[in-house]
Amino acid sequence: MSAPIDWHARAAALSLNGQAFIGGRYVPALSGKLFDGINPASGKVLAQIAACDAEDVDRAVKVARAAFESGAWSRMAPRERKKRLKAFAALIADHTEELALLETLDMGKPIRDSLAVDLPLSAQCIDWYAEAIDKVYDEIAPTAPTAVSLIRREALGVVAAVVPWNFPLLMAAWKLGPILAAGNSVILKPAEQSSLTAIRLGALASEAGIPDGVFNVLPGFGETAGQALGLHMDVDAVAFTGSTEVGKYFLQYSGQSNMKRVGLECGGKSPNIILADAPDLDAAATSAAWGIFYNQGEVCNAGSRLVIEESVKDRVVEKVIEVGGAIRVGDPLDPATEMGAMVDARQTERVMGYIEKGVAEGARLRLGGKRIVADGCFIETTLFDDVTSDMTIAREEIFGPVLATIAAKDIDEAIRIGNDTTYGLAAAVWTRDINKAFKASSALRAGVVWVNCFDHGDISSPFGGFKQSGFGRDKSLHALEKYTELKATWINLG
Ligand code: NAP
Ligand code: MG
Repeated sequence: MSAPIDWHARAAALSLNGQAFIGGRYVPALSGKLFDGINPASGKVLAQIAACDAEDVDRAVKVARAAFESGAWSRMAPRERKKRLKAFAALIADHTEELALLETLDMGKPIRDSLAVDLPLSAQCIDWYAEAIDKVYDEIAPTAPTAVSLIRREALGVVAAVVPWNFPLLMAAWKLGPILAAGNSVILKPAEQSSLTAIRLGALASEAGIPDGVFNVLPGFGETAGQALGLHMDVDAVAFTGSTEVGKYFLQYSGQSNMKRVGLECGGKSPNIILADAPDLDAAATSAAWGIFYNQGEVCNAGSRLVIEESVKDRVVEKVIEVGGAIRVGDPLDPATEMGAMVDARQTERVMGYIEKGVAEGARLRLGGKRIVADGCFIETTLFDDVTSDMTIAREEIFGPVLATIAAKDIDEAIRIGNDTTYGLAAAVWTRDINKAFKASSALRAGVVWVNCFDHGDISSPFGGFKQSGFGRDKSLHALEKYTELKATWINLG
């Protein structure tokens, strides 16, 4: 057996690159400006990151446009794009340990999760779209025999991908896979808290044979680089994952500029409904605990509202407390750690503010509620009981390890509570009654409804929101729709 990896030693030996990647090369921001990339677990500066701004956006868009127009990628045979994207996926997989370490240092998630979840799923995502792209056919319309109408999907051109910090590499992969497979050029803007893996991808894309200018990475702030991408007259589409608030900005940017296509994967307040006839109440409660505490609760589809049928509520809550209370919170680089640091001090403050509000509004704090070390970015697994739908902690997305449990007298009330939200990303129902399962899954307004599980998925199954969780879908072949235009070519045979 090989010796366990000393992640701290590996971290100390890293030399980190914080530059932008444009036209196949690493470059500083034109202004020369830098900002600090911080490790939230230690509070220390990891690297100086290029603070790209509107002028860098302009430069990257020109390069990406030229690459698109050249046809080097956009008109390459799908089979050849497939080969290079598969090579890209394989390189990501080959660099699993390095990239997992960067992800954990940059945003605080446990190394065990970066290794077991973020990295394999990111590589698999790129590989899946690579495999798909030489197998998707276009259509011919059933017109009268006097004409042939070819219905084809064409690449859009230059797509900007603006992504969040909670799963930096995986959220980027969900965009990059279909964007690149369809033949577009892309400009990836990572969140300011988590630029490192995105930057590292630049070199791997080049090594895989993706032509210069097709894949570009622009680190920087939302208010500068992000906004400039949203307002640019020569960006054809924005693929966004992030908060609902910023998603709405992108709709405005589009309206103020060139009506660019906007795909939005935004926030959530997902109801996880456990009915009294769940096949296994302990399994449901265990899954509910992980459904909120996984990734420090920084998950868009986190099961942050646990709606439980009254007759079994106390029993389920006890079990969630038992499981949640045993989760090991601490040093993200320790392979035994199950919950790491919040992404930064600001997010830590935000979450603590919600915990205070929960107490002030009369919810019953049953687990956690405190920081683990004063001033640090670690928060205890936290559970509130006796929450009602009107409380702030039941309405707003907290994006932290804070669970609100709400009682419902029956399935109808549970569905009503489940839908009492402006969001609609995900929902779950636990029951052994097929009729109840189908009733709930039809009635719940969400992009995915899980039955007798939580947060399961596959790259072949679409993911995205109803209501203010956004529109358009990531994952599955449906994602290709966001990055292509539908063109009809009508050939008159008459
Ligand atoms: P965020 O603040 O909305 O930021 C997302 C991205 O938008 C970042 O790259 C950010 O850059 C950029 N941005 C911020 N302000 C901007 C502006 N005024 N103009 C243009 N771009 C701007 O979200 P976050 O805090 O990183 O991530 C948490 C949110 O993402 C949560 O609401 C969560 O639910 C959502 N999320 C959704 C999904 C999904 O698939 N539905 C998945 C994961 C996360 P800066 O970082 O530099 O500000
Ligand atoms: Mg960071």
